[in-house]
Amino acid sequence: MKSGSNSLMWFRKGLRIHDNPALEHAAKNSAYVYPIFVIDPHYMKPDPTAFSPLAGLNRIRFLLESLVDLDSSLKKLGSRLLVLHGEPGDLVIRCLKEWNVKRLCYEYDTDPYYQALDRKVRNYASESGIEIFSPVSHTLFHPAEIIQKNGGNPPLSYQSFLKLAGEPHWSSSSLCMTLSMIPPIGDTGNCEVSEVPTVKQLGYGDIQEESSLFKGGESEALRRLKESTNDKECVANFYKPMGDPSAFIKPERTLLSPYLKFGCLSSRYFYQCIKEVQNEVKNHTSPPSSLMRQLLWRDFFYTVGFGTPNFDCMRGNAICKQIPWNNDDELLAAWRDGRTGFPWIDAIMVQLHKWGWIHNMARHSVACFLTRGDLFVHWEKGRDVFERLLIDSDWAINNGNWLWVSCSSFSTQYHRVFSPTWFGKKYDPSGAYIRHFLPVLKDMPEEYIYEPWTAPLSIQTMANCIIGKDYPKPVICHDVASKDGKRKFAAAYELNKKNKWYGNR
Ligand code: FAD
Repeated sequence: MKSGSNSLMWFRKGLRIHDNPALEHAAKNSAYVYPIFVIDPHYMKPDPTAFSPLAGLNRIRFLLESLVDLDSSLKKLGSRLLVLHGEPGDLVIRCLKEWNVKRLCYEYDTDPYYQALDRKVRNYASESGIEIFSPVSHTLFHPAEIIQKNGGNPPLSYQSFLKLAGEPHWSSSSLCMTLSMIPPIGDTGNCEVSEVPTVKQLGYGDIQEESSLFKGGESEALRRLKESTNDKECVANFYKPMGDPSAFIKPERTLLSPYLKFGCLSSRYFYQCIKEVQNEVKNHTSPPSSLMRQLLWRDFFYTVGFGTPNFDCMRGNAICKQIPWNNDDELLAAWRDGRTGFPWIDAIMVQLHKWGWIHNMARHSVACFLTRGDLFVHWEKGRDVFERLLIDSDWAINNGNWLWVSCSSFSTQYHRVFSPTWFGKKYDPSGAYIRHFLPVLKDMPEEYIYEPWTAPLSIQTMANCIIGKDYPKPVICHDVASKDGKRKFAAAYELNKKNKWYGNR
């Protein structure tokens, strides 16, 4: 007979062994530890052609690869991952009952979906005398503590967030990077547990050839982190607005966002690694552009998202300006499917579909184009498309950035618009990025690649691309649309000021 009681380790994000305090706690003084992951139908929409705000194929594939990696690491420690399928709240409660669990461990999650799930499970656990251990390890800070320090409200500027946050209390302590063993799994009784399924078993079709830029999992995350931080000069000289959004072979970023999203990489460990490099290399970039500061943006949005009711909507969101966005589904579909007739915008959207990842400035370009810059479509619609297609799609960060780029919150610089032609040209005058993702334009001469509708018909014929037939005409005239957008924005801002009209309708 083993000593200690049974623990359930519920993996949701935090798909890692290193710096995982919930797992560490479960492994201590337990007779048996049941590590589970629930495949939640809420996040699985198997039809990749359906327009739904839920998970896209790239993200699901990444998640499954991360689970396979986690399972393999658990096996090395004497355990394995138990996969269940269904509504997580009901399933966890059932496991707690059937496996006679006395301790439930899971990483704290601030997303509203998980908060609701946690309330359900917590209610059952407290009625049944089950201990809950739910530490904060997905972010650098506990959003509730920052909000408390700020008198009960989230800080609404990044600078005020930084002042309140200071240095994280754990920053110079050593994080637990591995475990020596995990107690075995007990009898699983009648609970239906499975191995990690394949994407096909979840009903998805074949994976596109060019979608393998990101391999999911902790092992890959740590390998990439090492690679990124080995290049000390690169870490030290990181400058946010720079970095070429059209560099599709090797984007000039860390590309760690998918690993941070699923918690394959601990943001706290990442923080410590950057700090180490900064201590070694005297001359490094300073705030607000440094890599460290990028990571802190993540915590900023987590904090504001956690402390703002209806953060993900315009209505009822106290920090969101009320703008008379249109609901033009045709324009939305043209943007979503890369058919706007603006090659820079369309190439980015194709990359998003294929890779499930695009550069930060590319995100800015297409988000500005969809909202205040050109199409004046509601930011919530763009947010939904990103939520479905990005591997790193993250509730707080995605909503926060859409609020920002659409000038609905955080920023008021609505008169500064990204040009859908000049911005890309600045980085990639020959249009290599466009030619790669839009092969229909591969033979268009350089001088017309960003505005192919201006090419004479003879040139279009030579390039085998007739505008309006092989590639769409622009859905709007940028000069007219952006002026109109600025005018509407100015009027809406006035109205917001006069009526103190922030999300109260
Ligand atoms: P790096 O530049 O190498 O930065 C390192 C880490 O810092 C990132 O992995 C990320 O965790 C964090 N970070 C960087 N920029 C930001 C930022 N602007 N806001 C918050 N955290 C940041 N990022 C997501 O992780 N998930 C999203 O759903 C998401 N949606 C976005 C939507 C829009 C409209 C925009 C404009 C940006 C969005 N971003 C999102 C932020 C940013 O584009 C990505 O985090 C970044 O491109 C990821 O690449 P990287 O890992 O190479 O970043």
